[in-house]
Amino acid sequence: MAEALEGLLEEGRLFPPSEAFKKQSLCISTHLYNHGDGDWQGFWATQALELNWYDEWHTIVDWELPFAQWFIGGKLNVSVNCLDRHVDAGLGDRVAFHWEGEPGDTRTLTYADMLEEVSRCANALRELGVKKGDRVAIYMGMVPELPIAMLACTRIGAAHSVVFGGFTSQSLRDRINDAEAVALVTCDGAWRRGSVIDLKTIADEALAECPSVQHSIVLRRTDNAVTMQDGRDHWWHDVVGRQSTTCEPERMDSEDLLFILYTSGTTGKPKGIMHTTGGYLTQVAFTHKYVFDLHPDTDVYWCTADCGWVTGHSYIVYGPLANAATSVIYEGTPDHPGKDRFWATIAKYGVTKFYTAPTAIRTFMKWGDDLPAQHDLSSLQLIGTVGEPINPEAWVWYWQHIGGGRCPVVDTWWQTETGAIMISALPGATTLKPGSATFPLPGIEAEIVDDAGVPVGTPGGGYLTLTRPWPSMLRGIWGDPQRYRDTYWSTYDGKYFAGDGAKRDADGYFWLLGRVDDIMLVSGHNISTTEVESALVDHHSVAEAAVVGKADDTTGQAIAAFVILRGGIEANDALVEELRNRVAKLIGPIAKPKSILFTDDLPKTRSGKIMRRLLRNVAEDQQLGDTTTLADPNIVASIKSRYLESAPSED
Ligand code: ATP
Ligand code: MG
Repeated sequence: MAEALEGLLEEGRLFPPSEAFKKQSLCISTHLYNHGDGDWQGFWATQALELNWYDEWHTIVDWELPFAQWFIGGKLNVSVNCLDRHVDAGLGDRVAFHWEGEPGDTRTLTYADMLEEVSRCANALRELGVKKGDRVAIYMGMVPELPIAMLACTRIGAAHSVVFGGFTSQSLRDRINDAEAVALVTCDGAWRRGSVIDLKTIADEALAECPSVQHSIVLRRTDNAVTMQDGRDHWWHDVVGRQSTTCEPERMDSEDLLFILYTSGTTGKPKGIMHTTGGYLTQVAFTHKYVFDLHPDTDVYWCTADCGWVTGHSYIVYGPLANAATSVIYEGTPDHPGKDRFWATIAKYGVTKFYTAPTAIRTFMKWGDDLPAQHDLSSLQLIGTVGEPINPEAWVWYWQHIGGGRCPVVDTWWQTETGAIMISALPGATTLKPGSATFPLPGIEAEIVDDAGVPVGTPGGGYLTLTRPWPSMLRGIWGDPQRYRDTYWSTYDGKYFAGDGAKRDADGYFWLLGRVDDIMLVSGHNISTTEVESALVDHHSVAEAAVVGKADDTTGQAIAAFVILRGGIEANDALVEELRNRVAKLIGPIAKPKSILFTDDLPKTRSGKIMRRLLRNVAEDQQLGDTTTLADPNIVASIKSRYLESAPSED
């Protein structure tokens, strides 16, 4: 693993929490770490006691690798923990969601409103025959009825499987069939960048090949023409509208299935990740509270993810609602009607805590500093990121131009599989380093190991593993226990293998280095994609970069770089040389890209992550692997033709 970028990454400033931030912070010392490390089981039990349980557990954790059970014997209901208990505590009038529609329409839902809507929807599902233990697929735009449908499932003990509203009918079909869902909740359409995506038609195509689905509930959102199939399809306003606003919740076992969610598919065929009830809710509530330093009575929190991804599950729906937070939900894209929609929305609602992704941050950098500068972002107190490694350059831009040089940046590492944040700063206690996710959270233990599974020292780099079970860990891959064992638990004995490379610096900070599948081997040296990309993005003319290792007769692999320039910068041979030399200078000659192709776009998953494996296929002129989660197939085709015709510069 290349250590050479150390200079670039670490010579920069340290960012300790400010006195002003510490003054109001929930945690400014190491006491949570002490508890979490000393007695991790007791620590998680303490966090679980923050929830309402019908019956308390008799055993905190049972761990028979690779299967964990948490809070065994405990009984609870997730919707009760997210809604009823807050209403019972007198918080019924608190806003749960400020919803901002893409066309500019808005809705405000209090905790009392949410409880009524969720109860109605739960009653409707029951009326349609959905039972405890069934699976319900949800395929909607970002409307309040999406979290409402999720919570309604939890109320009656059905597991949901949310499928991102941008997926094709085939992807929807495959996910429904894999989970054998009995019902689908969908919309007539969804707003996206000013036009209507015809979700119902896509759902109809899928349902034609989904024999398990008996019923679908269709929300009217965009008023486009749809075909309703008699006996199967029901309008939300009919079937939900006529229900009572109270609904008896199911008493769920702590280990009952809460949801199935398919991973983003960055590395290959998506996996149907299973999460259960008590442990999941415990850890999402704990992490949401402490990582975002939540003050539920005053904060306005906004996570820009879609509920179709795990970030939406854990940090739009379950964590914030369990903590009685007030959140913003936004329906559409960041560039509609203007490229400043996010900044206008922060100013409009007085957002205090903001959580987004590096891909979005790099796009905002490309769009220019003047857009956030036009809006009053002074309400912000903390900003966060998740989804990919964040390049130090992008971190500092975010800190400066969005956070006003005032807000801690929490870089949160976690996965669909981990259910909740695992590595992140505690913002009142941790001194930040741009580009580092800092340390495992209290109760979590992570270890970086070498090929043989032996922990590397500090400093050192290798493969990121997790060495203790954690409450919100995945309980398996739906229908494929063998793949579960093989993917996560077979590489390193007794440890969970995350699939990501990482290193620790001399101070013990964790730095994520990209996916192990993507790590490049040049003349016998492992080189991380993240480090080379960060060296490229460090150049003022580069907005975004992706690098891959391409088979090479002399060096084993040679580095092929794909670079997006910032607006107004001209691509030429001199710039190619300048960028190659820059990487050589910052990391070492061995990491110098052999070729650089300038491009307008990179292949990304629908959740916005760069799919380097497709770029590798392009560079090696191979057939493309699984492309079902690719956002825009045209991008790969155009990169491929340009790559082949450009005969990229070679040494
Ligand atoms: P698949 O597993 O199907 O390839 P995926 O890994 O993209 O899809 P997710 O669960 O959405 O699916 O993403 C988790 C991955 O995202 C992590 O394993 C890591 O590679 C990356 N990631 C998330 N947050 C961070 C972060 N803060 N820093 C670095 N990488 C991150
Ligand atoms: Mg993954």
